[in-house]
Amino acid sequence: MISDLRAQRVDKNYLLGRFNPETDGRFEKIPAEYSPGSANGGYLRKEVLQAFAKMRQAAKNDGVTLTIVSATRNFQRQKSIWESKWTGKTLVEGQDVSRINDSAARAKIILRFSAMPGTSRHHWGTDMDLNDLEDAYFQTQEGKKVYAWLIANAPRFGFCQPYTSKLNSNRTGYEEEKWHWSYLPLSSELLKQYVQSVDANDLNGFKGSTTAEAIEVIKRYVAGVSCK
Ligand SMILES: [Zn+2]
Repeated sequence: MISDLRAQRVDKNYLLGRFNPETDGRFEKIPAEYSPGSANGGYLRKEVLQAFAKMRQAAKNDGVTLTIVSATRNFQRQKSIWESKWTGKTLVEGQDVSRINDSAARAKIILRFSAMPGTSRHHWGTDMDLNDLEDAYFQTQEGKKVYAWLIANAPRFGFCQPYTSKLNSNRTGYEEEKWHWSYLPLSSELLKQYVQSVDANDLNGFKGSTTAEAIEVIKRYVAGVSCK
């Protein structure tokens, strides 16, 4: 599978999320039972969905329910999330960041948990958010059980947590996300292609895009992952 990817010409628009997963033959719609809430009607790469289905069944056999709350988000979707925060329409951890005049500082606050359009692993259809987007959930009894199951079992299905704690680690970029899991057999090759072929000039068409270079968003955030 990985050698197939290498043989393909790098599809930069795909890496940047500039495509429509609904009409892309590599993608498949997520069954409603896997994503009853916010990700309903979402898409994943076919291989990822197959691997997730196996993992979900194994979890179910152990009394753990895995639910996809966010899957593929293309550039347009990420742009609307980013700009809603950039303009203060959506608060970032309770803060209206549009009041921050230093644009790089403004971007960095959004970047604690949200990716710049064109830089999200969610563009690739290899990554998903499971069960809940709040750390508080993962402090509950249920959340702790789910997370412990994922840590112990996700690797044998190909999944890993790219945004682990930054304490006692050299990792840069986003804060810890216990909900975000990536299908490594595909995403590790896509990350390599991304780092080789995309530069800050490719990140444009959204508010605050000119901060990408100074922040070193590709080096510090895209490549700032615990599993490659
Ligand atoms: Zn995520």
